[in-house]
Amino acid sequence: MTSVPRPCARCGGEIPAERVEALPDTQVCIRCSSEMGGEFDVYVVSERISKDGSLKKNYGGYATKKVRKPIRPKE
Ligand SMILES: [Zn+2]
Repeated sequence: MTSVPRPCARCGGEIPAERVEALPDTQVCIRCSSEMGGEFDVYVVSERISKDGSLKKNYGGYATKKVRKPIRPKE
């Protein structure tokens, strides 16, 4: 699969192909991403697999939830 550069949703600049390759769902360039403090907010949530009321606590591990931050046009 070959990635191609795409325009940044924030500044209109070019997102290099290498970044698109590494982060296929990215919409902003490296500079905008760092200015935003990261393009995504990542939450770690524990997966609870035991039933409610159970005395035994079973945690199935952790899942990460990635939420895209709103992209505001650069002033
Ligand atoms: Zn940008």
